[in-house]
Amino acid sequence: MTGKMNWGSVRDRDRIARNGVDSVADMGAPGARPAPKKRPAKAALRAELAAAQAKVTRTIKCPCGHEGTAIVPAAKARARLRCSKCGKIAQ
Ligand SMILES: [Zn+2]
Repeated sequence: MTGKMNWGSVRDRDRIARNGVDSVADMGAPGARPAPKKRPAKAALRAELAAAQAKVTRTIKCPCGHEGTAIVPAAKARARLRCSKCGKIAQ
């Protein structure tokens, strides 16, 4: 190798191999503000809230003969509940 070595680009190449590179798209244009984050639509937020707050009415029958209804969150619709009379797990 008889030409001059460009040590700056050698260092750059080593540094990039060692540390990786950041995406230019993530950085944005120099001096520019980052792109604003997309705000979720109010309808989407309302639907999410309604799903979280939804209640399910379950009728529970126990082998002991006791029967009752319970209003439970939708997330607990399939949960096993105990009978309030005998304490057994009811259907
Ligand atoms: Zn029972």
